[in-house]
Amino acid sequence: MTSPLPAPHTPSLDLGGRTALVTGAAGGIGRACALRLAAAGARVRAVDRDAPGLDALAERASALAGSIEPLVLDLTDLDAAERAAAGTDVLVNNAGLQLVRPIEEFPPKVFHTVLTVMLEAPFRLIRGALPHMYDRRWGRIVNISSVHGLRASAYKSAYVAAKHGLEGLSKTTALEGAPHGVTSNCVNPGYVRTPLVEAQLADQARAHGISEERVLSEVLLKDSALKRLLEPEEVAEAVAYLCGPQASFVTGASLVLDGGWTAH
Ligand code: NAD
Repeated sequence: MTSPLPAPHTPSLDLGGRTALVTGAAGGIGRACALRLAAAGARVRAVDRDAPGLDALAERASALAGSIEPLVLDLTDLDAAERAAAGTDVLVNNAGLQLVRPIEEFPPKVFHTVLTVMLEAPFRLIRGALPHMYDRRWGRIVNISSVHGLRASAYKSAYVAAKHGLEGLSKTTALEGAPHGVTSNCVNPGYVRTPLVEAQLADQARAHGISEERVLSEVLLKDSALKRLLEPEEVAEAVAYLCGPQASFVTGASLVLDGGWTAH
């Protein structure tokens, strides 16, 4: 029997001729994923509600093997989200938002928005993408979950609920997609160096009257064995791995990049 791998020790990713859709592509992790997939030759549909952020991303595309097509879209428009996913071979569900508040003070409207953007939109995007993937008998769905898809933290009810739901959606997609050549997986980062997290560092340093380094190691990374932030590009490499031939048997999995956080 021949190996499904192209050749031993050839970890490069070739997505020439493939279309990818990345949500939340104007920001930290999504932007890194869009650039990584375009570098691998994909035509990337970069979706976000942040138009200037998408323009800045598109400016980087000329140096890449593939291309980046910005699509300004608010993912709470679920019908538009489903339509946007038609014809994609690779789908990266990444867009997200966070509100930290005790449950009794958590605004129900925000809870609803978080679940809409981070769980219902991924469902609709998957729904929109699968017919083409099934036709081509190949597809890669990567859901950017979190350590919070596997563990809870106080005051993050909507985020933790959405990420746990995303884990279930991803596994169900894996079961349904398997006979059609479609894999579905989650990537589960710990804290990633994005503008959001860097702002949190500065805020907490001010609030606690300690240095940003101490906030990092004693507050944010208290449970992480490795005391550094993950870089968005490292998350993008995990996404690239899951899109490549080396990962064709990996489906329904959760690839944890948490510096040992969940090893406790
Ligand atoms: P980010 O805030 O830098 O980027 C999120 C992007 O999503 C933004 O560009 C934003 O405009 C977009 N977005 C939000 N709501 C939208 C909507 N309604 N319609 C369209 N676009 C919308 O965040 P990030 O840190 O890069 O996070 C990306 C993903 O990674 C999220 O799902 C997040 O939960 C997950 N994650 C982040 C971290 C971290 O430490 N930063 C850790 C684990 C998981």
